[in-house]
Amino acid sequence: MTKVAFITGITGQDGSYLAEWLLKQGYQVHGLARRPISDVMRSHLYQVHQHVQLHYGDLTDGVSLNTILDQVRPHEVYNLAAQTHVAISFQAPEVTTNINALGTLRILQQITHNPHLRDTKFYQASTSEMFGNSMQTPQSELTPLAPASPYGIAKLYAHLLTQNFRSSHQVFACAGILFNHESPRRGELFVTRKITQAFARWVSGQHTILELGNLDSRRDWGHAKDYVRAMWMMMQHHTPDDYVIATGTQHSVRDFCNMVAAYFNIPLHWQGSGVSEQAVHAQTGELMIRVNPELHRPLDVINLVGDSSKAQRVLNWQPEYDLNDLVQHMCEHDLQLVKNLMQ
Ligand code: NAP
Ligand code: GDP
Repeated sequence: MTKVAFITGITGQDGSYLAEWLLKQGYQVHGLARRPISDVMRSHLYQVHQHVQLHYGDLTDGVSLNTILDQVRPHEVYNLAAQTHVAISFQAPEVTTNINALGTLRILQQITHNPHLRDTKFYQASTSEMFGNSMQTPQSELTPLAPASPYGIAKLYAHLLTQNFRSSHQVFACAGILFNHESPRRGELFVTRKITQAFARWVSGQHTILELGNLDSRRDWGHAKDYVRAMWMMMQHHTPDDYVIATGTQHSVRDFCNMVAAYFNIPLHWQGSGVSEQAVHAQTGELMIRVNPELHRPLDVINLVGDSSKAQRVLNWQPEYDLNDLVQHMCEHDLQLVKNLMQ
């Protein structure tokens, strides 16, 4: 029997990689989209658009979700849709909560109320942002959760709800506590992609200054392709559970800039944030990175690194890519993108 999967957030970074992975495993793949994709070839779904079925709806619209879920009757639901930007969640906390927290409730309620979905498995995209500024390093499934942003708080609601529906309604519900994961498909507002795009533009002759916020913030950056595989592995295990997915290595935003600079062989000139308080001009050939205090968050999470030993032990999950591979993939892709745009 062909398995049927339904992905919310299918147009995003993880949703598109997961769709590709599930199609390779022989699934029939359906996805929720907020609007028609006007230029399929430029979307993340360009490789698989002929093989996925899109349904138009929104996580804030319970009726549309109920109708779609009743039509599709999936064996597995992957709830990846969200307002995903931490900084934006400070400016728009209400919509962030509606999508990230209540959107999850809407799906779980439908799974429990619709008799056709009684055996449907559910995956929730939980996040390391739920740890906030934890005293424990590295963070595992046992680390106390104390989120530091409206994004993290809404995700914590959805995380606890997932656990609650598992224990109170016996839903096969898993939550993946995923640390930051990136790729050439990462949203352009996230720091890694902002950096690789700026360097690619600079290499192509567009000499701009790269403005960043907190350079000392540390993250555990993995590759999105490894992380969507982990989501699927959780859903194939005989028992639903929660798992941290991370590489276990940590780098600062400044380290990431240095790795990209080394890849492109570009000297850097740092300005601000105690690196060089003087406003001096970059020498010819140097890319200038300037700290802009306006890019600092009201409260930042500064020290994330994950312990994924449970996922390695129980699921036999291992990442295939390291940070050097990730930097290379993102830089190659963004350089090609700039070249295409300049043609
Ligand atoms: P992404 O690229 O920003 O994709 C977000 C997706 O959610 C897009 O498909 C977007 O649709 C959709 N969406 C947003 N609001 C929606 C709404 N109201 N109704 C329906 N769909 C909506 O995010 P990602 O990096 O793939 O992340 C996937 C999930 O993992 C998210 O839940 C995120 O919070 C979580 N997560 C990500 C990371 C990470 O480092 N990437 C780490 C931990 C957890 P449009 O295309 O229409 O905008
Ligand atoms: P997040 O971990 O989901 O918030 O992913 P981001 O890529 O948005 O941010 C990672 C870290 O980089 C955070 O601690 C930010 O404060 C820091 N950061 C520093 N400069 C920037 C910037 O210009 N943009 C973003 N998005 N983050 C920045």
